[in-house]
Amino acid sequence: MEKTNLKGLNLTQLENFFEKIGEKKFRATQMFLWIYNKKAKSFDEMTNLSKKTKTKLDEFAFIENIELVEVKIDEISKTHKFLFRLADGRKIESVLLYDGKRKTICVSSQVGCAVDCKFCATGKMGLLRNLTLSEILDQIIVISRDFETEITNIVFMGMGEPFHNYNNVIESAKILCDPQAFSISQRKITISTSGVLPKIQKFIEEEHNFKLAISLNATDNLTRTALMPLNEKWQIETIFAEIQKYNKTNRNRVTLEYVLLAGINDTDEDAKKLAKWIKDYNCKINVIPYNPTNTDFERPTKERIEKFMAVLGKATPSATLRNTGGRQIQAACGQLATTN
Ligand code: SF4
Repeated sequence: MEKTNLKGLNLTQLENFFEKIGEKKFRATQMFLWIYNKKAKSFDEMTNLSKKTKTKLDEFAFIENIELVEVKIDEISKTHKFLFRLADGRKIESVLLYDGKRKTICVSSQVGCAVDCKFCATGKMGLLRNLTLSEILDQIIVISRDFETEITNIVFMGMGEPFHNYNNVIESAKILCDPQAFSISQRKITISTSGVLPKIQKFIEEEHNFKLAISLNATDNLTRTALMPLNEKWQIETIFAEIQKYNKTNRNRVTLEYVLLAGINDTDEDAKKLAKWIKDYNCKINVIPYNPTNTDFERPTKERIEKFMAVLGKATPSATLRNTGGRQIQAACGQLATTN
């Protein structure tokens, strides 16, 4: 029997595993608590397991741990950027953000990304592979065990397109909100997508209560396709049609993400069009001034950002300017990338 990585299994899967190796069902709950609540790295740390059980576990199972390689801290915002090495040597980054009482982990879902948004450092890597459920959860386990115990929010906005790794992202979110595991409220978990339409539809059909964010980044299809090639397939109107469906079945409002790029999507006209959509479709919008990385795009001036927000703010109260922390350490939105 091949050894099973117990990290990444839900309670039912753990129960099946323990049944298979001839152990009592309650062991599954013990294991679930040890891995996700007490964040144990090995069977040795599990003090309520007998020596005999540990020997059996060593024979049939293991707990995979990702390796923390480097931590960078932005002194101004306290933003932490973490570099992790995975079992196959691939590397990913995650970010811990502080905003008042809010302590948010920005989680990666893939090594690289296939979507190729032109303003994004991860997009330049191409897709190397999906993360396993264990690797997704371990980012949160390590950060909350070793750096910040009171995590309040999770955003799937790190490296990768979460909806290209749909099952693992959704299953990890379910474990994150389990009261016996991380106990994070469903409404404090945000899953972001660049607009992968079939998976947005699936997400709506499955009626999840996790929050949904969609990267819009432009107010016309020509500009959006130039910035995000997937727009050729799934255009702005089709995305808003799905938002309309979502509004009928879900109390949460969709958040639109809008990276503000100098001379590309930052005119007063863009702000007015955006405001209209937000009103018509009952969305919220986060405007994120571009964080420079290895592309030709530029961040708009402070004056332009203020004017854009003023026009938007006049028309809708649902617009927020997000000056994401960590620019100095390349930890802000769109700046994550690793050499693999
Ligand atoms: S912005 Fe997100 S979806 Fe687009 S390339 Fe970067 S990681 Fe992928």
